[in-house]
Amino acid sequence: MSNLLRNIPSVNELLESPQLRTVVKKLNRGAVVSGVRDFLTNFREEIQTAVSDVNIPTATELADQIADWIIQTEQPKLRPVINATGVLLHTGLGRAPLAEEARNAIATVADGYANLEVNLESGARSQRVDAVEKLLCQTTGAEAAAVVNNNAGATLLVLAAIAAGRKVIVSRGQLVEIGGSFRLPEVMAQSGAILAEVGTTNKTHLEDFEAAIGEDCAAMMRVHPSNFVIEGFTATPSLEALVALGHKHNIPVIDDVGSGALIDFAKYGVTGEPIVPASIKTGADLVLFSGDKLLGGPQCGIIVGRKALIKQVATHPLMRAFRVDKVTLAALAATLRLYQEQEIAEERVPLLSLLSTPIENLKNRAERLAPQLAALPSIQSAEPIQDHSFLGGGSVPSQKIPTYCVALTPTEGSIDQFAQKLRLSSPAIFGRVKQNRLMLDLRTVFPRQDTGLMSAVRALGSQPEPEQEK
Ligand SMILES: *Cc1c(COP(=O)(O)O)cnc(C)c1O
Repeated sequence: MSNLLRNIPSVNELLESPQLRTVVKKLNRGAVVSGVRDFLTNFREEIQTAVSDVNIPTATELADQIADWIIQTEQPKLRPVINATGVLLHTGLGRAPLAEEARNAIATVADGYANLEVNLESGARSQRVDAVEKLLCQTTGAEAAAVVNNNAGATLLVLAAIAAGRKVIVSRGQLVEIGGSFRLPEVMAQSGAILAEVGTTNKTHLEDFEAAIGEDCAAMMRVHPSNFVIEGFTATPSLEALVALGHKHNIPVIDDVGSGALIDFAKYGVTGEPIVPASIKTGADLVLFSGDKLLGGPQCGIIVGRKALIKQVATHPLMRAFRVDKVTLAALAATLRLYQEQEIAEERVPLLSLLSTPIENLKNRAERLAPQLAALPSIQSAEPIQDHSFLGGGSVPSQKIPTYCVALTPTEGSIDQFAQKLRLSSPAIFGRVKQNRLMLDLRTVFPRQDTGLMSAVRALGSQPEPEQEK
């Protein structure tokens, strides 16, 4: 055993190998030295604890292994991936991809300093929301706006700012859970507002709201049940009716629309999504939504509505904890600017361009890619097939969007092993497993990524099995 250990080359010897010298040039000496040490420590441990005989690799083999390992571990943990899952707003994959205009705006403000809270004309202190407020008012029709880290934050902040210690009336059919950690009753409790549930799971009437109104009532709230539908014997008061009731009793109506569509998505086959400008027009006093769902912008929570209420929200102490940085504001402003012209938004906002890609285009790409993929050694069969994509991001799973996929069967291994290999390939590819095949859904793959997709699958064929144990 100790003989074996003595045969392992020293750190210095390894660092002198051509393989590791190349890695030093790519990364830096410090990272490579500690990488070699870590690898050797693990390797010695493996030898000492091995139950059977261990073959010590030659110095060259060892240098090769260490070089690969260091390059692998030095890769950023957060990397770009090709989303071939067909889920357009995949929370695990970062929801909406940003428009080129938004990416450029990020690069521009990230490059140095920016007038985040300074008015250029007067030189005096200004509000950071100034970067987007006018655009938000233009695109939604609201009087004023505030922006926070996400819609969960927007909900918590709004409730804390306008309803702490007082009642907020919500229909029992709208006490939603979104993505596990966002549960409206719990958010409400955290905010200090008192939840006043009215109606039943399936039916809530305007009279239920009216009966709950009293001295200690701060607001009525409507929550878009984003991820489920109640069908059958159901009733919910319309926003219009709630607004009229609110006005009568001087109680604001908060509308959590969730996904934040600025335009009607019905033309993409996505129905039932509330439209922010429509909600403002109907008279909701505060409307809350996410920036990275149907708006197709950066992660943030947007609050639009009446000036006095927005002021109350924006001056609450929690605002400081939830505020967004210059990078988010720059990306949001650039995305909103695209919405000033709906046609431009449809062309330039990636979510909208993916959604509006004609099925014929996807079919052509699938038919072109399938034979190329089928010719690769790691692929047994590749077939273009019609299927459905999903909106995702906490939307109703029944919203099916027609698509074309390439259905892959690997030459060897299980479908889950194959899916893992693709996730670990370069670029990383996420597909969707269906009926023991790996579907590459082209609805969510940008045409420019087709070559990356091909090269990643091609590389699988010429590579030995990825080493999992280290
Ligand atoms: C998605 C969603 C939220 C949470 O928004 P995040 O931006 O993910 O924090 C809250 N309410 C509704 C109705 C939603 O759909």
